[in-house]
Amino acid sequence: MARRIGVFGGSFNPIHIGHLVIAEAAWQEFALEHVLFIPTADTPNKTMHHIDKYTRYRMVELAIADNPHFVISLIELERKGPSYTVDTIRLLKEEAPADTEFYFIAGTDAVADLPTWKYNRELLASCHFICASRPGDVEKVRRSVRYFGALGRQKIHFLRTPELEISSTILRGLIRADRSVRYLIPEPVIGYIREKQLYKGAW
Ligand code: ATP
Repeated sequence: MARRIGVFGGSFNPIHIGHLVIAEAAWQEFALEHVLFIPTADTPNKTMHHIDKYTRYRMVELAIADNPHFVISLIELERKGPSYTVDTIRLLKEEAPADTEFYFIAGTDAVADLPTWKYNRELLASCHFICASRPGDVEKVRRSVRYFGALGRQKIHFLRTPELEISSTILRGLIRADRSVRYLIPEPVIGYIREKQLYKGAW
């Protein structure tokens, strides 16, 4: 069987159990050798709320430190200019043995948006997509799969996971309001957020 690697891109601002639960389920269900967490660079189309990319990277590092099949990558942080997922997969492929297959892990909201991504057909041609259930618009996901026709049916796979109605946005709001995020964010990450006083200042 070909070697399978999971690729999990996100802003992780901050990383939370919703991310970790789907990465672990994808690893198991799709027999992935490991899951590569790839924090995205700062992009003009998504505000990072004054949290710089290396701080987001550090939070991911702390969150996955105790999991031997989770690995972190700097590949998008160090790239100059706009960063497209299709370029990331191409670079990963160049460095991997020829029989390696890449599985991009994403929540339903991201898969629903896939038709708007740049170079989306090239991306689907170059890797598989694991669509992890997340509370939201299921019909939008189906539409997205239909949009890609045969390519969508072949390359987009569904993964049922416990649906956790949390997001980094919700967690930033809780932290800002001095509410507990215990059990929603890994303990070492909470310690780091406290130490650095993240998400408290102006947004
Ligand atoms: P924000 O609220 O800042 O937009 P987010 O919580 O959606 O952030 P991202 O880092 O943007 O987190 O997400 C990275 C990937 O993880 C996306 O594919 C997203 O769909 C998925 N994801 C995030 N939270 C969950 C969740 N609770 N359940 C399933 N997938 C999730």
